[in-house]
Amino acid sequence: MPPLPVPPLTLESEEVSRFNRRFGVRLADGARVEAVLYRGDTLCVSSQVGCAVGCPFCASGAQGLQRPLRFEELVGQVEAVEARHGPLRRLTLSGVGEPLHAPDAPRFVAWAKERGTPASLTTSGGPLRRLERWLRDVPHNGLTLSVHAGREPTRARLVPRGPSLAELVATLRAALPELSRRRKKKLALAYLVLAGENDVDAEVDAFAARFAPLGLAVHLYAYNPVPTSDAQPISRARYEALYARLSDAGLRVRMSSQARVEANGGCGTLVALRAAR
Ligand code: SF4
Repeated sequence: MPPLPVPPLTLESEEVSRFNRRFGVRLADGARVEAVLYRGDTLCVSSQVGCAVGCPFCASGAQGLQRPLRFEELVGQVEAVEARHGPLRRLTLSGVGEPLHAPDAPRFVAWAKERGTPASLTTSGGPLRRLERWLRDVPHNGLTLSVHAGREPTRARLVPRGPSLAELVATLRAALPELSRRRKKKLALAYLVLAGENDVDAEVDAFAARFAPLGLAVHLYAYNPVPTSDAQPISRARYEALYARLSDAGLRVRMSSQARVEANGGCGTLVALRAAR
């Protein structure tokens, strides 16, 4: 494949921690998003300037949505980081934005597969017709569905413009029997635990009751506070208790990796700044 023209973006800042490097990415129109290099070989790419889903714990959507990123801007994040730090092994559309709202995201995932740097994504799950397409047809290397709740009022509060729990379960139930074993293994659920929001036993029990029958792995994420939200993390002891509770309920649970626990790597911590109009 011939190289693309010069990326229409610049890496204007780089913040280094033990496992991660977080980049401020300035786009040609002046808007700014962020990307994170995990462990030196996996790049978390932003898909939109802002986000329309409006999760109250998340810095990325705090200013609402300005626009999705174009294909060249998705690729540009990868090429700019590779030019500075060498070849990447994996990509993930888990930065600023909802990938299912970004029209060029499927093309980016196909591009990533073709060049040997397979791309995964994290999504709140809507619109459902796009989730169906991503589950069945888009050549992703992992799709993590952000659920964060077991009861509908909690889901509506934490993921305000995402599909309901009942809609997610129905969509997964319809799609799973049609997926190959290999493709099914690439699906997972995410539960980000927030103090006083979704950390009570009744909430995680309801989550387990709804989702355990699907047989998917669950990422139990600890939360890193952000200045745009009052949301708070739970204690380590409570986090471990919830891990044990979900495991006892029959779910395959994974804890946050060390790279995710770092302040610059956690869910919802990346920031978007709109371009001046
Ligand atoms: S958590 Fe994801 S879906 Fe929710 S507002 Fe942030 S970027 Fe959007």
